[in-house]
Amino acid sequence: MVVKNLNGSPQTVCGCGSWLNHWRRYGKPSAAFAQRQRCAVVVCDHPIELGVPVQKEVLDGVRVLGMRGDASWYVLPLCLACSQKPESALMVDDGCGLAPTSLQETCGMAGTAGPPP
Ligand SMILES: [Zn+2]
Ligand SMILES: [Zn+2]
Repeated sequence: MVVKNLNGSPQTVCGCGSWLNHWRRYGKPSAAFAQRQRCAVVVCDHPIELGVPVQKEVLDGVRVLGMRGDASWYVLPLCLACSQKPESALMVDDGCGLAPTSLQETCGMAGTAGPPP
């Protein structure tokens, strides 16, 4: 799957402490990915260093077939180098277990910066 890293992450602070913790709690990676513990980018073999909010990319050829983009944000585990590529489309492992950033669907801490209850 292809995602866009816009480097414009939602500024919401959740109760997990970091987006990486948020992904560890709410992402649903495949067993193989969870065991591998590597950056979600398919050509990258660096260890996971941080969680990065991204949006799913729909390629032009697919859009013609009627598929539409998804405006939702998801958190992916990436290494530092991949997270810093500006405005890039990243080919990531389908098993990486995107965690929704929607706090209503996950930790429910919208707008609060304190520790989880
Ligand atoms: Zn969270
Ligand atoms: Zn990487």
